[in-house]
Amino acid sequence: MSKETKETRPESKPEDPETHSNMDLTGEAIENLAVNDHDNDNDNDDVVSDASVTETDLSLSASQSEQNLEDDQSLQPPPPPPTRISGEESSDLVTEQQLQNANATEPGPRVRKRRRRKRFFTEINANPAFSRNRRTSVGKEVDSEALIAMSVGFPVNSLTEEEIEANVVLILGGKEQANYIVVRNHIIALWRSNVSNWLTRDHALESIRLEHKALVDTAYSFLLEHGYINFGLAPVIKEAKLRSFDGVEPPNVVVVGAGLAGLVAARQLLSMGFRVLVLEGRDRPGGRVKTRKMKGGDGIEAMADVGGSVLTGINGNPLGVLARQLGLPLHKVRDICPLYLPSGELVDVGVDSKIEASFNKLLDRVCKLRQSMIEEIKSVDVPLGEALETFRMVYGVAEEPQERMLLDWHLANLEYANATLLGNLSMAYWDQDDPYEMGGDHCFIPGGNEIFVHALAENLPVFYGNTVESIRYGSNGVLVYAGAKEFYCDMVLCTVPLGVLKKGAIGFHPELPEKKKEAIQRLGYGLLNKVAMLFPYNFWGEQIDTFGRLTEDSSTRGEFFLFYSYSSVSGGPLLVALVAGEAAERFETVSPTESVKRVLQILRGIYHPKGIVVPDPVQALCSRWGQDKFSYGSYSYVGVGSSGDDYDILAESVGDGRVFFAGEATNRQYPATMHGAFLSGMREAANILRVARRRASISASNPDHIDKGEEEEEDEEENSCLDQLYETPDLTFRNFSVLFTPNSDEPESMSLLRVSIQMEKPESSVWLYGLVTRKQALELSEMEGDELRNEHLRDKLGLRLVERKSLSQEGESMISSLKAARLNRQIFD
Ligand SMILES: Cc1cc2nc3c(=O)[nH]c(=O)nc-3n(C[C@H](O)[C@H](O)[C@H](O)COP(=O)(O)OP(=O)(O)OC[C@H]3O[C@@H](n4cnc5c(N)ncnc54)[C@H](O)[C@@H]3O)c2cc1C
Repeated sequence: MSKETKETRPESKPEDPETHSNMDLTGEAIENLAVNDHDNDNDNDDVVSDASVTETDLSLSASQSEQNLEDDQSLQPPPPPPTRISGEESSDLVTEQQLQNANATEPGPRVRKRRRRKRFFTEINANPAFSRNRRTSVGKEVDSEALIAMSVGFPVNSLTEEEIEANVVLILGGKEQANYIVVRNHIIALWRSNVSNWLTRDHALESIRLEHKALVDTAYSFLLEHGYINFGLAPVIKEAKLRSFDGVEPPNVVVVGAGLAGLVAARQLLSMGFRVLVLEGRDRPGGRVKTRKMKGGDGIEAMADVGGSVLTGINGNPLGVLARQLGLPLHKVRDICPLYLPSGELVDVGVDSKIEASFNKLLDRVCKLRQSMIEEIKSVDVPLGEALETFRMVYGVAEEPQERMLLDWHLANLEYANATLLGNLSMAYWDQDDPYEMGGDHCFIPGGNEIFVHALAENLPVFYGNTVESIRYGSNGVLVYAGAKEFYCDMVLCTVPLGVLKKGAIGFHPELPEKKKEAIQRLGYGLLNKVAMLFPYNFWGEQIDTFGRLTEDSSTRGEFFLFYSYSSVSGGPLLVALVAGEAAERFETVSPTESVKRVLQILRGIYHPKGIVVPDPVQALCSRWGQDKFSYGSYSYVGVGSSGDDYDILAESVGDGRVFFAGEATNRQYPATMHGAFLSGMREAANILRVARRRASISASNPDHIDKGEEEEEDEEENSCLDQLYETPDLTFRNFSVLFTPNSDEPESMSLLRVSIQMEKPESSVWLYGLVTRKQALELSEMEGDELRNEHLRDKLGLRLVERKSLSQEGESMISSLKAARLNRQIFD
């Protein structure tokens, strides 16, 4: 991940594309196409930009009276309630021994703006066309619509690979392409000016000459199907259904994982008309986006993001769009980040600037070195950490102890952004995503990111507690196995984290292609942890969102090196300490109580010399992303020997369009981010649609298709027959129903078990089937609760429940005899 992605924001605000509403429109194509500029002006007058929303720093908690209270408290601290400390994913709460508070006499830390850090563009690694578009052209006067499209990730004057694949123009590079780009940019800008509306094709056409209707149609369809317009959570958008499968049976898709990528894809696929089911191993949606409600006595509470937290760049960010649609205010992360020495003193400004400049220069030197290495030796790669240390020694950088500590802080920051040790990062490609970085402010969402997750998951058919163990795919479809259940589908979308794929926790049959397996191994997946602490009051001040601390021991440089204050957005005095690099690994071997003691020691080292009392937190929790079996780490990075290509390989589908992949580690441009995960979900929904259409058109032109249609009709008939049989089951308990073998009371005779899997929307519920003996069915009926029954089926009887389509031959004969028996009864009764 690029260095700046998770750093505090630079002082100078970059130009904000979505606020350039009155720029001159330039370029032939625009003059040709626009009916009148007046229309465009009107559209642009209405622009409510992501960035404009961020201009105001909105605070949930910092009222004046609270501020006064806080000042009083720093003089006479209230008696601290017992601290509750927990390791994440564990419900054990430990009572922490109360620790001594020092007297408070001095005010809070002096705040100071940190200088903008240098950007490191890697011309040699980036797609040259893209880089040129993003930077050289930005220097020119380009129109506001192109800038908005650019912020969303479209090049100013060329097509994306997706557009080329979708054949949006007949001939590449000609006038048609130029016109198409103008139309595409216009449509994006039009929708972005009011993201709560459904932009219709006709509205898109309004300000374009009729002779260009075909181009509007093409651009509109492309943008709609790829989720660049009309996406998200506005009521009108949530209700919309595309008619992608008119007259054709819609294919069904199983989505594995209900993180951002899975949720977005499932939503988009449903709106496209697919039948969708999401299987999630955890008992909650969101995956690596996890907001925990923290609580103490006296009504103190706050929402803490223990996973993805900062919207890193709001311009064009799809999560910014969701925020606008949900009416959520954004809080800009302020670019003030005081750094403290171990003694608690603020770092000297002069030394700080000097070392920051040296750090940037070291990185520059590494860039130059790799450029010449790539030109001359082509494929050799070395660890970034090694290269930096060599240059540091050669140029005698940071030889004084304080300078060394400062340099270490910057290196820890880099390890945080990449979630790994610098020694693991590829010198050649670690920052390959830099050119694509989202512009604009870094922001927090008040109340935490779970707001997005819950809104995205609402009414989706998600089966929680279903850990997928294997995926079997072939030319006729896919079988997905989760515990005792088996799901048949036309296509599967796998969105599990790279850590899960690396562990081989899901077996693929046939095995994934070698190329993909190698990419999974090569691409890095690292660790970042957090300690979230809810305090009885804010002692660090309301003016800052971040502060850092230096350490004398280089090997612990990532340990609680940066603190995020969530006071203004979480609803309470919440501080989150980050643990990166080597320290992140060690952190998971230390008890949460010990870790919190250590953070408090550090905080007291900073604040006590200033006379500020650091109370015990009322609740604390420590993340353990490395031990989490649904993640095995935090996010991806480009390891030594890997490159941006590996993200693309991870994204490739396998099995001739049967198994698809999404998730942050499949997004070359925006890896390791929430928006990257979001966009990958959209990308794959579009890919699945493309493949489904291709398949539908092949079967439409193939007579076999008619047979298949008949077969499907037969299936439906069969299902309705079975439904009739279950209208009068022999045994029923909770979600289970049983039909016994007709005319037999033998305990070992077979019974057909049907289990209803309940969804939020009753019409989405599904039935799964299995064969058990009559005795086993009776035993099941006597058990307490369906959970126990499911466990018994899986663990004791080793039974896998399956969909109707996947019933064994024995099951089919059982159904036949049941039907025959009923028929006889109807005739003879
Ligand atoms: C500590 C931390 C801090 C971060 N900070 C930021 C930040 O500030 N800004 C930012 O933009 N990004 C940040 N990120 C990254 C961001 O959170 C992720 O990139 C993003 O959430 C990934 O989404 P995803 O859908 O790709 O994967 P996930 O969210 O991991 O979703 C995958 C889902 O698959 C499920 N799953 C796994 N295995 C199975 C299985 N076998 N069967 C069924 N289900 C399974 C998981 O439970 C999970 O729900 C951070 C991440 C972490 C961990």
